[in-house]
Amino acid sequence: EMIDDELVLLSDDLPSSGASPAGSPPPWKLLVVDDDDEVHTVTRFVLGNLRILGRPLQLYHAYDSRQGRSELCSHPDVALALLDVVMETERAGLDLVSYIRDELHLSECRIMLRTGQPGYAPELAVIQQYDINDYRTKAELTNTRLITTVSAALRSYQQLHALAEHRRGLELIVGAAADLMEQHAITNLAEGILTQLAALLKLPVDGIVCSQRGAPFGGDGEKCYVVGAAGRHAAYIARPLDELPDRRVVRSIQVCVAKRQHVFAPDHTVLYLKAAPNQEAAIFVDSGNAVAAMDRPLLEVFVANIAACFRNVKLVERLHDLAFEDQVTRLANRLQYIADLESAARARRDVIAALIDIDHFADLNDGLGPDVGDLLLIAFATRLREHLGDGCRLARIGADVFGVLGPASVVNADHLGALCYEPFEVGEYQLPITVSIGLCRHFEESATGLTLLKRVNIALNRAKRSFSSHYEDYRPELEENTRWRVEVLRQLRQDFQAGKLEVWYQPQVALASHTVTGLEALVRWPNGKGGFTQTPDVFIPLAEYSGLIVQIGVWVLEQACAEHVRLAQNGFTGLTMAVNVSIGQFRKAGFVDDVARALKNSGMPAELLELEITESIAMDEPRIVRQSLDALKQMGVRIAIDDFGTGFSSLGQLQNLPIDRLKIDRTFIQEIAQEKRGLYAETIVGLAGDLKVQSVAEGVETPEQAAVLRRLGCTTVQGWLYGRALPRAELDRWLRSPPLEVTVGHQPLA
Ligand code: C2E
Ligand code: CA
Ligand code: CA
Repeated sequence: EMIDDELVLLSDDLPSSGASPAGSPPPWKLLVVDDDDEVHTVTRFVLGNLRILGRPLQLYHAYDSRQGRSELCSHPDVALALLDVVMETERAGLDLVSYIRDELHLSECRIMLRTGQPGYAPELAVIQQYDINDYRTKAELTNTRLITTVSAALRSYQQLHALAEHRRGLELIVGAAADLMEQHAITNLAEGILTQLAALLKLPVDGIVCSQRGAPFGGDGEKCYVVGAAGRHAAYIARPLDELPDRRVVRSIQVCVAKRQHVFAPDHTVLYLKAAPNQEAAIFVDSGNAVAAMDRPLLEVFVANIAACFRNVKLVERLHDLAFEDQVTRLANRLQYIADLESAARARRDVIAALIDIDHFADLNDGLGPDVGDLLLIAFATRLREHLGDGCRLARIGADVFGVLGPASVVNADHLGALCYEPFEVGEYQLPITVSIGLCRHFEESATGLTLLKRVNIALNRAKRSFSSHYEDYRPELEENTRWRVEVLRQLRQDFQAGKLEVWYQPQVALASHTVTGLEALVRWPNGKGGFTQTPDVFIPLAEYSGLIVQIGVWVLEQACAEHVRLAQNGFTGLTMAVNVSIGQFRKAGFVDDVARALKNSGMPAELLELEITESIAMDEPRIVRQSLDALKQMGVRIAIDDFGTGFSSLGQLQNLPIDRLKIDRTFIQEIAQEKRGLYAETIVGLAGDLKVQSVAEGVETPEQAAVLRRLGCTTVQGWLYGRALPRAELDRWLRSPPLEVTVGHQPLA
């Protein structure tokens, strides 16, 4: 019989699925199971050299159902099985069918049953249940009919196979979209898309570039950037598209974005994706082949799905920005800064962290209004950006505190200090500002971000408190110190409230007459066991820092005044009473009133009260001090400059202050003992003479020091040579019979 040419030549009316390699197309696999040798021979003869739907046929032969099973196992991609029904048993062929469908689960494989005996037709139910394509008696199967039947079966197989592939593709897409939705960073999403696409098109994950408009990495919103790439393009992630050396890829993507549609070229594909009005992406697939028309709808579904993922990324990024960005200055916020500190520590990066605090920002904010305050913060952030450049992480940590993290060449006290050389232009104002800076370079790998922030903050707090320096480096000792300080302060507050502090009195002696002319009130913190919990050198600075000094100071003043009146009543009249005053007391409104009240309540004469302020206070905040001093002078109170010689007085300012005495610091008196001439003491005594004020030497411990001071013309001495500070209970006895040749004077000093 003639072979039906039409059927054989029907070949390419369906495009082949997938990108099959160039050269010979893969053959259809056919399995022939029959116990009749002749059937095999005839089948081989008829089908052997045929091409159906453009592909050759590959025949596998089995002679019983056992062999049939093993052939099926080794070739699960058999497209068509031609089975004899009756072999070793009457149903051997039918059993093989159930083996194919139920055990091997080969649903795409087509099945043709052949039987020699017409009477053995299986019921229709079986044919339907097992999806059998054809059932013929061998007599019916002429050669032509065999070819047409096989052709029909193979075409059916091809369609089933394509459908199954698409279902797999759709499942992949649905699964991919769910996976990709989880990708919150654009680069992760792009990488995921490439992997999923490669799986979908059965390509290696390579030669695929993904690019997006809408400033994915900040920067130019119109430019295309590579957001994800695999294989040879991988090095270009986060770079502008035009930097890609492969011009073909660049051009294809530009064309796709310009036309806003997919490009299906003979050797590559570019998918166009619009995620949001100003956000587009192009996905370049270097397929090496045209993507089959049948696969195109699949790709469109894929792209529609991942557009949602892109929108999702934008949304998550926005949320991230809100959570980690300061809304006033657009710098990173505290949370982000903490995370940055931690990752710098993890990565063992060689960096320095700095906190910068704008001095007196609250005053500016109160005085000029919060709008101006905000503008100043923005101006400061801008200055930071310009001054420190891109290599640094900048953040706003608190109201007026900024964080910097970067290399030591940029983040150092000198460089940061230069930030404020120029005043800040804020609206119509030119604001000169100063800053305090804390620095920290201690980044061990295990430190948390919060710990690191605390460290910089400790350094900053020290810098803020320091009168002499506007910056401070973190040292581990400081931290120990902080814990300890907090504890001491807690106990001080408690003991002060419980009335456990005492005021002791140290005599001051006039050198010329060797008479006791006054007392200095010095606070003490007894521990109840004959010793002291802490010395004033330790706890006074803490009290100053915490503000507790204001209450303690008023209390000392009241005690001193009361004691002065008591001593006068006991016959020790005309003595001066010196009381130390801290800057915190001066700053507090109403300090002058406190003094007036203490004098009035006690009845102590104002002329005998002497307030001691340290040189650094007098010089650092002349305006604050000036007003109060003038008011105090008005009341008749005397003023002494304490610790003179340790600060940096300007003589001009000194002359302008209404002072009565200079107290020469103890260190200059000690020098006299060390075989030196006491040059400083000499200078200060001379200066006091020029200023026409008295000089008091503190810490005189030896007769030599006293002799030198007398020769220099120092007015008054105070020190252990004459007497230590005494509790009030011992004061009367000491004054009644002072040691050495000292006598207690009764006349007020001139
Ligand atoms: P300061 O005002 O310079 O007080 C003089 C310090 O020198 C006192 O230390 C005194 O005991 C000590 N001193 C006196 N003579 C000698 C001596 O011959 N040799 C030696 N080595 N030291 C001598 P103190 O009482 O420990 O007070 C330390 C600082 O604490 C004071 O220095 C003062 O600045 C502050 N302070 C003490 N009491 C008060 C107070 O009631 N209010 C305020 N604001 N500060 C106080
Ligand atoms: Ca048979
Ligand atoms: Ca003093």
